[in-house]
Amino acid sequence: MWPLKNRLPVTLAVHAQPAPQERWIWTTSTETAALALSLFWLLSANRPFLGAALKGREWGDASAWGFAVALALMVLALHFLLVAAVGVRHAFKPLAALLIVGTAFASHFMDRFGVYLDPSMLRNVLRTDAKEAGELFSWSLLPHLLWQAALPLLVLWRLRLKPRRWTRALLVRAGTLLAALAVIVGAILAVFQPFSSLMRNQKELRYLITPANVLWSIGSVLAADAKGAAAPRQAIGLDAAPGPNFAQRTRPLVLVFVVGETARAANWGLSGYARQTTPQLAATPGLINFAQVTSCGTNTEVSLPCMFAPVGRRAYDEERIRGSESLLHVLARAGVGVRWVDNQSGCKGVCDGLPTAFVKEWNPTGLCEGGRCLDEGLLHGLDERLAQAKGTQALFLHQLGNHGPSYFRRHPPAFARFQPACQKDDLRLCSREEIVNAYDNALLYTDHLVATLIQRLKAQADRVDSAVIYVSDHGESLGENNLFLHGIPYAIAPEVQKRVPMVMWFSPGFAQIRGLDVACLAQRASQPAAHDHLFHTVLGLMDVRTTLHEKAWDLSAECVKP
Ligand SMILES: [Zn+2]
Repeated sequence: MWPLKNRLPVTLAVHAQPAPQERWIWTTSTETAALALSLFWLLSANRPFLGAALKGREWGDASAWGFAVALALMVLALHFLLVAAVGVRHAFKPLAALLIVGTAFASHFMDRFGVYLDPSMLRNVLRTDAKEAGELFSWSLLPHLLWQAALPLLVLWRLRLKPRRWTRALLVRAGTLLAALAVIVGAILAVFQPFSSLMRNQKELRYLITPANVLWSIGSVLAADAKGAAAPRQAIGLDAAPGPNFAQRTRPLVLVFVVGETARAANWGLSGYARQTTPQLAATPGLINFAQVTSCGTNTEVSLPCMFAPVGRRAYDEERIRGSESLLHVLARAGVGVRWVDNQSGCKGVCDGLPTAFVKEWNPTGLCEGGRCLDEGLLHGLDERLAQAKGTQALFLHQLGNHGPSYFRRHPPAFARFQPACQKDDLRLCSREEIVNAYDNALLYTDHLVATLIQRLKAQADRVDSAVIYVSDHGESLGENNLFLHGIPYAIAPEVQKRVPMVMWFSPGFAQIRGLDVACLAQRASQPAAHDHLFHTVLGLMDVRTTLHEKAWDLSAECVKP
């Protein structure tokens, strides 16, 4: 052991002459660091929130400035509260680093695509496969990450947090937390009138407060998942049974349900879009087009489970939908052979425990590259399957469709009909016209897919009775009001994100055995419809009997023999 007197001079010498690694180090309290970080986020990541909250205010008016200052103080104090409440001295740096990186990514996507970071958007992000995520990253992210993540991380790294005796540390922390709370309450009271009307009329705006929105969404997704994991999926339609029509079927009966992706009604040729984006379907005899269909959600995570639930948007209950079985389970219970084929990021729980296949695992020749497959891969092996079909079958095909932003990657070169088309993953590098062209080219390919499917079914119509339902999960914004992609909270989402195309087709044998009056259904198609109709319509068309079946929500109810 070194005698104390030998060590002292050495220590003093270090303090007198700072070593090179000691330069550029800032010593400060944890509270000051938390405040600085909150201020950085206020200035760097909350432009969308402040912009939206202050939109349309008269800047000649002093009250508008007062409101702006109050909102800024609230955002600042809120983030200070969140960081300081958990960031004890030793945990502060790793926590802050995580948050800095998360915030940089979140603010980039909110800025670029006009998205709101709410729990369903976060779920969407978490469930996105690596390939989808890859397309969202582009070089334009780099400068953003440099200043929003690298810069604060560098400062954080050079920070030395002052130690305090634990009693004093506790007092100081409690005091500053109380002060932050007082600032929030004071700011709210000072502008109570405009603030409360803002929160009442545009409560979705809170999902723009960054990174509070990220933390809130992570918390609520984790809580919902923990709850869901604790309870098994609730069985539904326990009384489901084949109706009398099953016994009359002498031939196999196959329903093919195509779950579309990000196709919007506004660009659907059959529904009156100025451009013919559906030439092959338009030339398909007997095709029924539903021109006014409303989706249940504005993103896949919400829409997909909802499309196959007995009660969808009309009394929306996310927890109940996620916690229950789907239409597919009810069909299977009645003896229908159910199968899900996926060309995207999975069935979001609706096919749990049922036969499932992934196109990328089949890897059909010429259709896949780098883990991504063109949608025609969904038809791989279909002819053989139809040739061997027995009994009543329901085949669900989950498309990649018009999944953005890389619309140009969704179709083979032959479908690049509308030019010039955006050829970049970063939509900002393209004009509106180029983006719409790329989007419409991808729609042409969906048109081709569904028309080809119908051709294949027609080719075997002498021995298999078949039906096709195609419907998209949600729409898309293509730059209207500077919005791109989708996922805006439902209550404030623009129509283009909520209106989706839907078509149906029936082989003559299907219509005959089910006693389906196709002209009657075509008549029904001129009226509004919604995802809410799907569950009951499929049960009706297949003649699956259960007390869950609500005639009022069955589009075929008036057109099919009871
Ligand atoms: Zn989707």
